[in-house]
Amino acid sequence: MRRPSLLLLGCLLASAGLRSAQASAADCPGNPDALGTSRTIVVDPTEHPRIGTMQYNETLPLNDHEVVLTFDDGPLPAHTNPILDILAAQCVKATFFMVGRMAQVYPQDVRRVYDAGHSIGTHSQNHPFRFGDLPPERMTAEIEDAITNVGNALGDPTKVSPFFRIPGLRRANAVETYLGSRGIMTWSADFPADDWRHITSAQVVHYALSRLEAKGKGILLLHDIQARTQAALPVILRELKARGYRIVHVVAATPAQPKTVTDPAQWIPHWMHGAVARAKGPAPGFTFGAVENPARGPRSVRSVWLAQRAPRARASTIAVLMPAKGRFQINRDIGAMRRPGPTPKTAAHRPLPGSWPVTAGDMTFRPLTGPVKTGSRTDQPATPSVR
Ligand SMILES: [Zn+2]
Repeated sequence: MRRPSLLLLGCLLASAGLRSAQASAADCPGNPDALGTSRTIVVDPTEHPRIGTMQYNETLPLNDHEVVLTFDDGPLPAHTNPILDILAAQCVKATFFMVGRMAQVYPQDVRRVYDAGHSIGTHSQNHPFRFGDLPPERMTAEIEDAITNVGNALGDPTKVSPFFRIPGLRRANAVETYLGSRGIMTWSADFPADDWRHITSAQVVHYALSRLEAKGKGILLLHDIQARTQAALPVILRELKARGYRIVHVVAATPAQPKTVTDPAQWIPHWMHGAVARAKGPAPGFTFGAVENPARGPRSVRSVWLAQRAPRARASTIAVLMPAKGRFQINRDIGAMRRPGPTPKTAAHRPLPGSWPVTAGDMTFRPLTGPVKTGSRTDQPATPSVR
């Protein structure tokens, strides 16, 4: 135990002086070949309340080949502590989304994560199944109790980052609205490694790296309560280093630590622009949102196409194309919602468009401009972004 904690201390001291500077391998005491943490991003949750393109249209403003590591469900000393040692040996900083109940049982391990310089968000008190379906009082209690208990373990509520990951990513508008009202950032992810499934650690490595390679950057979702994750992590970090990836640490803005200045466009990664380039010039007030997750194939399509009927499209003939099982259907005529008129035929089970315009039944659709902020998986287009 001595050596890792000395190493940790060294990393803390080393990182204190170069919070947002480029860290070279030499900055990691005892490991000249360390992966290191290349920079720290300071985020304002009120400005970007929902991130992670597995579910949302925005993600962290990462550059190509930058990765943010996240660990859910802990702390569980048997695996969290070895994972901390692995991260410390590489001077890598991550974000841990802790379960309140676990923090109550293992408060010293919560402190160990914090003292190692990682960010600590929360992941509900009891990790209930179907989080998005919880009654409002239960949902808010799950969120608040976790924050309270992780804060108690740390002895200081301000040490808990205003970051929350919904258990099972089972989002609901009410959950996101509540978190937003509390100034808490809802973290989805950009790709999982399926390490909660009964797979081998080699498969965890494979999923983590292949999905990252497909996107080139992003937030990786892992679990620090799994033996397979512990076994996979050294290989993942070694490969990240070998392939030229850089680790980014994320912390929340405070009055003493202002946010990293970013452009809004940096929060929308290239893959969210989809197969369709942004159209020139906004048609009156309408946008389209996209796209499938290329790393996971067309069946992982999360978001909604909002397209304008053509030719001679009018605002009253906007339809929403809702991807379902790798296909889409014209689900609703927004115009018809506003004024009586013919509802367009449902053209279900058509392949997702790889290019536009799309002809469906007797209608042709072409995309409009910009991403829709639906904040949803597949089915929340009821308030399209009418600017
Ligand atoms: Zn979880």
